[in-house]
Amino acid sequence: MIIEPRTRGFICLTAHPTGCEQNVINQIAHVKSKGKIDGAKKVLVIGSSTGFGLASRITSAFGSDAATIGVFFDKPATEGRPGSPGFYNTASFEKHANEAGLYAKSINGDAFSNEIKEQVVNLIKEGLGQIDLVIYSLASPVRKHPTTGKRFKSVLKPIGGEFSNKTVDFHTGTVSEISIKPAEGEDVENTVTVMGGEDWKMWMDALQSENLLAEGAKTVAYSYIGPEVTKPVYRNGTIGAAKDHLEATAFTISDDLKSIGGKAYVSVNKALVTQASSAIPVIPLYISLLYKVMKGKGIHEGCIEQIQRLYSERLFGGDLALDSKGRVRIDDWEMREDVQAEVTELWKTATTENLSEIGDLDGYSNDFYNLFGFKVDGVDYAADVNEIVDVPSIQ
Ligand code: NAD
Repeated sequence: MIIEPRTRGFICLTAHPTGCEQNVINQIAHVKSKGKIDGAKKVLVIGSSTGFGLASRITSAFGSDAATIGVFFDKPATEGRPGSPGFYNTASFEKHANEAGLYAKSINGDAFSNEIKEQVVNLIKEGLGQIDLVIYSLASPVRKHPTTGKRFKSVLKPIGGEFSNKTVDFHTGTVSEISIKPAEGEDVENTVTVMGGEDWKMWMDALQSENLLAEGAKTVAYSYIGPEVTKPVYRNGTIGAAKDHLEATAFTISDDLKSIGGKAYVSVNKALVTQASSAIPVIPLYISLLYKVMKGKGIHEGCIEQIQRLYSERLFGGDLALDSKGRVRIDDWEMREDVQAEVTELWKTATTENLSEIGDLDGYSNDFYNLFGFKVDGVDYAADVNEIVDVPSIQ
């Protein structure tokens, strides 16, 4: 079929298998171009099909020749209906990993559930024996709690008072004022339940209790801090409360891993266009200004550049360069004083009329379409493509 983008707000309902494959190929090429990383050899990535998780899986496999197990929650294609990008990405990743002679198995299902944890435990027992790196990169709006069965929804709201600021509709370029009502009722607790550290710890407990973590195993979860301008809705908002919880959980997990000489880290990553971040009000405007400034300075990075640098310079580079709160900071270039000062100035003047000039709206929009395999260089979108693509390890 001919597959075209069909967008609705910040999501795209279709995805292009050839475009997704090209994205994966480009990421593999980037990792290979940077040379080998003396990193972990048996890696579990939870949230492995898009964004930072996919970049982590690719960096492990093609940077360190690692065997990888990926867990994700995506929709396979059905006749006439394309699958979700994560499914196509995973199919392509496995194909290229297999061609390179690398072990790669994937499990598509709810990572929050006991069933999926059990499936992964069994897979590790059968295939890899033990894991030496666990990447936790889930971004989800909902979580069904595995012990109570209760469904929790995360929200993106300020805490304590209404927040008003500028935002952009990145499809039209219209800059407008938005007001977001503060969290109420159990919004904060619910968001912490979905995006905090409880599930990360459950994963680590499940692996450790079955003796599936190798001596010195590491685990890393991803967090975000960001600038002053997004603070009320991000870091000081409901999602920030969840990130505080995730970051605190790293210390609890590190304590648990002491007996095997293991360690848990949080890496604070840069703001990037992913399915998760497009959904957060205000962030798209910030990102389009940030992209312009960072590209102008020659320090722009996508997910793969971020994670390749995280692995090669920090996790396996001998210098974690932890901040005062014990976090790895791969958002260091985003948070540079000169970068933030310029973005802050641009923010004050940003309007619908000048955004295409002072911001990188095209870069934002292009990255958004790329997430779904569209507008990828070198792909012939007029060509007929088979929407049904299999992930080799998933029957
Ligand atoms: P993403 O939406 O691209 O990826 C999320 C992944 O989680 C996908 O593989 C998806 O399949 C998987 N997933 C979601 N729900 C699942 C479930 N129930 N079971 C199994 N898999 C599930 O998101 P991302 O932006 O790469 O975010 C990953 C992490 O990085 C998050 O913790 C996010 O907060 C953090 N982060 C993101 C940014 C950013 O700007 N995008 C910046 C810093 C940190």
